[in-house]
Amino acid sequence: MSVEEYAEGVLSGDRTALGRAITLVESHREDDWQLAQELLTRLLPKTGGAHRVGISGVPGVGKSTFIDSLGVRLLDKELRVAVLAVDPSSSLSGGSILGDKTRMERLASDPRAFIRPSPTSGSLGGVGRKTRETLLLCEAAGFDVVLVETVGVGQSETVVAEMVDCFLVLLLAGAGDELQGIKRGILELADILAVTKADGENRAPAERARAEFEGALHFMRPASEHWTPRVVTCSALEERGIDELWELVREHRQVLEKAGELEARRRRQQLRWMWSTVEEGLLQRLRHHPAVREQLDDLQSQVTAGQLTPTLAARRLLDLFSES
Ligand code: GDP
Repeated sequence: MSVEEYAEGVLSGDRTALGRAITLVESHREDDWQLAQELLTRLLPKTGGAHRVGISGVPGVGKSTFIDSLGVRLLDKELRVAVLAVDPSSSLSGGSILGDKTRMERLASDPRAFIRPSPTSGSLGGVGRKTRETLLLCEAAGFDVVLVETVGVGQSETVVAEMVDCFLVLLLAGAGDELQGIKRGILELADILAVTKADGENRAPAERARAEFEGALHFMRPASEHWTPRVVTCSALEERGIDELWELVREHRQVLEKAGELEARRRRQQLRWMWSTVEEGLLQRLRHHPAVREQLDDLQSQVTAGQLTPTLAARRLLDLFSES
């Protein structure tokens, strides 16, 4: 297929063409990479139209049930919904947390929704790049809302927070901070926090947890001067709090848009994406550089034996890399 054919297919909203374009973006082959970049360059003016929302939380917090429930509601509002995943488990262990079971049953069986699991190999940075580019393709294909899901493993939350307009963190009541991996970092990334499974006997503990998280947020400086992160409760099982949560996501967008912060946030993300790709690429080139490879073992041994300072060793590696 030529770039024109890919572009026409994606722009017309053709699912098969979109799927093939995503496969192209995910490919490891150099010629595919060239073609994918040409395609993205062509589509770039048609991107940016979706509301990009990140959804994060530990396995079992209820992400798929929540996304299923939210997604169906959005479809009912005539919004076109795509769900993408960033799953670091697939790059770390070859297995997959997000891809293994049948998830989001109602959404998956609805032809109006588009669900794409994360690429199964590559570094987290690579998976992040592919998901970002898939997001752009979905926008060119006319999706109104793109939900990007991730588990709280490694740096995956940061990777997702860096590609969305609104970052939503799902939490469990009474699970203990350690169990939930609630690092200060994730609270700093969140625009909205939701305590899930606020139903039956869990309703009161969920409300208490909500108040506790709200208290914890008071001690933190909000990432935005226009938006103070909010904490809510919801139950996907009883379908309660989901509409309110979406209203909050919309309110967040309106506030940011009005302040000019949405555009600023996206511009910042584009530049960080560029620089993190440069960093990753440089490191890879350095590691594969013949002169560096030749001296690496020796320099490492000298550092571990205490014969050479890490600073000097690093300087030598950089010199070897840039001299030839
Ligand atoms: P994920 O691993 O984060 O995607 O979590 P799942 O959506 O697969 O949910 C994990 C478990 O929690 C499943 O057994 C769900 O049935 C259950 N669950 C999900 N949402 C709710 C909810 O709102 N209320 C209750 N009581 N259980 C829920």
